[in-house]
Amino acid sequence: KRDDVDVEKLEEAVAELDPKNGSYSEFTDLPLSEPTKEGLQSSHYAVMTDIQAKAIPLALQGHDILGAAKTGSGKTLAFIVPVLENLYRLQHVGADAGLGALIISPTRELAIQIFDVLRKIGRHGHMFAAGLVIGGKSLEDERQALSRMNILVGTPGRILQHMSETVAFNTDDLKMLVLDEADRTLDMGFQRDLDAIIEYLPKERQTLLFSATQSKKLSDLARLSLSEPEYVSVHAED
Ligand code: ADP
Ligand code: MG
Repeated sequence: KRDDVDVEKLEEAVAELDPKNGSYSEFTDLPLSEPTKEGLQSSHYAVMTDIQAKAIPLALQGHDILGAAKTGSGKTLAFIVPVLENLYRLQHVGADAGLGALIISPTRELAIQIFDVLRKIGRHGHMFAAGLVIGGKSLEDERQALSRMNILVGTPGRILQHMSETVAFNTDDLKMLVLDEADRTLDMGFQRDLDAIIEYLPKERQTLLFSATQSKKLSDLARLSLSEPEYVSVHAED
């Protein structure tokens, strides 16, 4: 269990953030837990990218986000940091806590990249258990691990397969859903899988949706998955 005083202080500082007017430029300008600060520092992340500076304060406060920024703009940390922090402040860690965050990515390769960033930033004192659900391993091996995970990164088809086939895969207490590269996920024909997954999840949750481009399909997905979202976009010329 976390230090309650530490969590209370973080809660207060997060509530005092002013995301719309805030001039937050470095990660250290934000109220983040010691484990996350250390993880960012040891990976030499100091100055936030534009999408990170705009999205992270809003996401820390629990808002749903529709974030659009081109490839290479740093969208991964824009959701990894809030996932780690929001679960930390909720003390949603450990085998009994269950699944707290689900991160969906269109391809196995991208899911592995996200998982690596999560591990790199999370390895300095965070207590969460994280797993990859991308197929390739036996369904049974993945199944064994699923009941203990706090954060899962996976591809839509495989996640849906576990939702329908794995009894111990319980999403009742899910706090956060992340849809990364949502435009690509839709382009690859995963719309129905995403719809089915979203249908399965608790309505009371925070959703962060990131995309490099905008489209009609994307706004349909946004309407289905987000609740009173904050729109955060970074233009190509930035
Ligand atoms: P996107 O998902 O928007 O395409 P990524 O999250 O994959 O972008 O990040 C692109 C690259 O930028 C990665 O190599 C990542 O390590 C680097 N990066 C992300 N955020 C920062 C930052 N705040 N400072 C320095 N490099 C960063
Ligand atoms: Mg990305």
